[in-house]
Amino acid sequence: MSNAQAELIRQSFVTHVDENRLMDCMRCGFCLPACPTYIHSDYDETQSPRGRIALMKAVRDGVVEWDGSIEEAFDLCLGCRACEPACPAGVQYGTLIEETREAVLSVKSLSLKEKAVRKGAFDHLFADQRKMKTAVKLVTFYQKSGLQKVVRKVGFMELFPPFMKDMEKSLPTPPKKRREQLPPTEKKTTVAFFSGCLMDTIFQETNRNTIDLLNLLGCEVIIPKGQQCCGALQGHSGEMERARRNAKVNLEAFDLDGIDYIVNNAGGCGAFLSEYDRLFDRDTELHVLARRFVEKQIDISSLLVKLGIVEELLKQPKTEATEIVTYQDSCHLRNVNRVKDEPRDMLKAVSNSLFVELPDAHLCCGSAGVYNLLQPEMASRILGSKMEEVKRIQATTIITTNPGCLLQMKVGVEREGLSGATRAMHVVDFIHEKLMGSNGGK
Ligand code: SF4
Ligand code: SF4
Repeated sequence: MSNAQAELIRQSFVTHVDENRLMDCMRCGFCLPACPTYIHSDYDETQSPRGRIALMKAVRDGVVEWDGSIEEAFDLCLGCRACEPACPAGVQYGTLIEETREAVLSVKSLSLKEKAVRKGAFDHLFADQRKMKTAVKLVTFYQKSGLQKVVRKVGFMELFPPFMKDMEKSLPTPPKKRREQLPPTEKKTTVAFFSGCLMDTIFQETNRNTIDLLNLLGCEVIIPKGQQCCGALQGHSGEMERARRNAKVNLEAFDLDGIDYIVNNAGGCGAFLSEYDRLFDRDTELHVLARRFVEKQIDISSLLVKLGIVEELLKQPKTEATEIVTYQDSCHLRNVNRVKDEPRDMLKAVSNSLFVELPDAHLCCGSAGVYNLLQPEMASRILGSKMEEVKRIQATTIITTNPGCLLQMKVGVEREGLSGATRAMHVVDFIHEKLMGSNGGK
């Protein structure tokens, strides 16, 4: 690398990566045992939070020369933020890795393919819900027209990497017939629902079940028009400007009077929504709007528990347990929003199932947005050890609270040949099944 290129990268780090945030790290190493990439890379320091922070600082100070191994260390970070709750110094690692990715992206020459993928995904698919719906209609046509059977029969999927093959088998099939939404009971609370891009397309039935459960607990549910993808995927990929554009659209869509809560049912989106205020400069109009938005943010498990779902579940007649249920945390729900008990409290209150804690449920499943597509080897290693634990506790139902984790669990079930014995479900679908008898979105 020429001196000019090295200086360009260093300057980009100086511009984007906050030095004070880096200096917060006192190098104690308490975060190391919480980091999945550190664990799954034979305890390689460069694959740990402390190692990555040291690399960020070294690049910024110009004391190491940028090379492929440094870029790989940043790329291999899941962005799961498990290092944050473990850190006694309150290091904002999530912000640091986003700043780092923005610094790299702003000087990196992307290949034509990378540019096309980013443009297609971020300027079209995740920027316009109509385009997302069209894409899902194509997938539905593929599943329902018989094309999927033909593709599998002629072995076309063999041309794809193993992870893509498993993903193709694990995509949820849309319900045959849309059922009627259950009517609301007496209104006590008004909730604006962030319906999400994936949740509102691939997992539409989960969204309908979410509204049913909220209605049951006395909520009027409003779905603000014009809302779009939260921007998390963009933000986590270093595309902060694109993330800000999506956030601005959502802030305007949810700027409504008379709302008690803004609820979401996707852990990853919820974490990004709950930090919208950090995307905008203090004292700007958008920052004020974002503060109001953030104060009303809540995830579906916390809201259901707050409104009395556990009491509703406990009213069900006690019967013998027919399944072993376990729970895989959504990293961002747990590490950013610090929600870990509420989903478990609901699962423990279900009358005809036995809740068994999944060992290391707090460690990422390897999904991490599009990490499983970009870093299939590490994602596969992480998923492999997760499924070993699922088998060890003989779980028949794996519950998650995020679409990416749910798809990853479905891939794991498929890959391990467990599809007859084990199912993966969103917590909302499971609770809906237990209280209202449907299993939509399974
Ligand atoms: S975000 Fe996750 S993968 Fe990245 S350093 Fe922190 S714990 Fe490790
Ligand atoms: S726990 Fe916090 S302060 Fe300690 S090494 Fe990790 S990031 Fe740095």
